[in-house]
Amino acid sequence: KPTTYTLHELGLSADKLDRHAVSITDRLVKAGFEAYLVGGCVRDLLLGLHPKDFDVSTNAEPEEVQALFKNCRLIGRRFRLAHIHFGRHIIEVATFRGPHVKHDKNDSHAHRDGRLLRDNVYGTLEEDAWRRDFTVNALYLDPKKKTVIDYVGGIKDHQNRVLRLMGDPVTRFKEDPVRLLRAVRFQAKLNFQIENDTAAPMLEMAPLLKDIPSARLYDETLKLFLNTDANQIFDALRQYGLFEALFPQTDLCLKKATSDKPLGLLKQAMSNTETRLKNQQHVTPYFLLATLLWEPVRRLIEQNRSSFSNDTQAIHAAANEVIAHQVSRLAIPKRMTTPMREVWALQPRFHKQIGVRCLRFLEHPRFRAAYDFMLLRAQYGEVDEKIADWWTHIQTLDPTEQKLMTRPNQ
Ligand code: ATP
Ligand code: MG
Repeated sequence: KPTTYTLHELGLSADKLDRHAVSITDRLVKAGFEAYLVGGCVRDLLLGLHPKDFDVSTNAEPEEVQALFKNCRLIGRRFRLAHIHFGRHIIEVATFRGPHVKHDKNDSHAHRDGRLLRDNVYGTLEEDAWRRDFTVNALYLDPKKKTVIDYVGGIKDHQNRVLRLMGDPVTRFKEDPVRLLRAVRFQAKLNFQIENDTAAPMLEMAPLLKDIPSARLYDETLKLFLNTDANQIFDALRQYGLFEALFPQTDLCLKKATSDKPLGLLKQAMSNTETRLKNQQHVTPYFLLATLLWEPVRRLIEQNRSSFSNDTQAIHAAANEVIAHQVSRLAIPKRMTTPMREVWALQPRFHKQIGVRCLRFLEHPRFRAAYDFMLLRAQYGEVDEKIADWWTHIQTLDPTEQKLMTRPNQ
């Protein structure tokens, strides 16, 4: 029933395969099991991209895998996976999974709304293919026979650059609404179109993301925004109503905005992230999260400014409120919210250009991030260009000159 392609006719060469992953499939096959490379790595190889990781799929059960490899650890409680370690490099070996349980109300495996709570039944290769998300993610590469096995029309879709959810899209999105975010992420990464039937219910399904645990949504959000396609992904998220599900407060601000500055600032921050990632510079999630939540924070500061005796108090109050709301949706950890608050709280200090406090500010561990954030605000008219230039200039001077620059009565 499946279509089998040779690597040669697909323009793939066996020497592009990860040697560790191939050695794992070799050993499994020698032990009498089936074993394939699967998922993202096959999809990416077909595009000539360098796969992030190579996953192995097999009919050997986790304990059987473990018995074959010394460097193997089993992880996961409900659905056990084998991790095979090669130094810092890990290859994931998963046993074929069977079909999802049916969605009738007597079924304890599915949530009332059709969301899958667990799927821990082993199955056949064909069943394993159909339980995956997009057809192009369900291709199995056999390194020994040098073939790709396609049960789902994934090669055709790949050639047509189409992202198609298998089965009935509404059912599949209900099973796992995170697939909505995956559709947007892969569309941007691969430059594929989301197939019409898959795309059609997305806007309507977007609110289902509310039921996803906030820790998982946080992880998915980082994958979306710490991304070389962050801008394109951001646009698509808004198009499909998904941004609202992730950042409801920010989305509301963008919808209410009377100028395009808040949107411009966000898009600029994402372009900066893209550039940094492309130059293999470090990017920290907290900076981007601080920009993503800035507009709601800024609006609250403005609204409540008169009820506080100083800016810092107003900022802290606004930060508390916005973060409290946000973490109920995305489990942003403390080690991120702390520096986010700092970056916001340091903003008023750019307005004081006199005195020893300025000099100390330059030494503040969070100065650099706060400065970058201020520059972004200056680009969108929130901070006077002269102030931004002053802070840019002072950093180029030696300490004596800096002292002169911040002396009172100049
Ligand atoms: P990348 O790692 O480049 O982001 P990937 O396709 O490898 O992309 P993973 O999250 O590593 O994505 O998942 C590996 C494979 O597991 C996918 O290719 C897909 O076949 C399957 N998969 C992952 N998440 C889901 C899901 N939510 N629903 C169904 N299948 C999924
Ligand atoms: Mg992967």
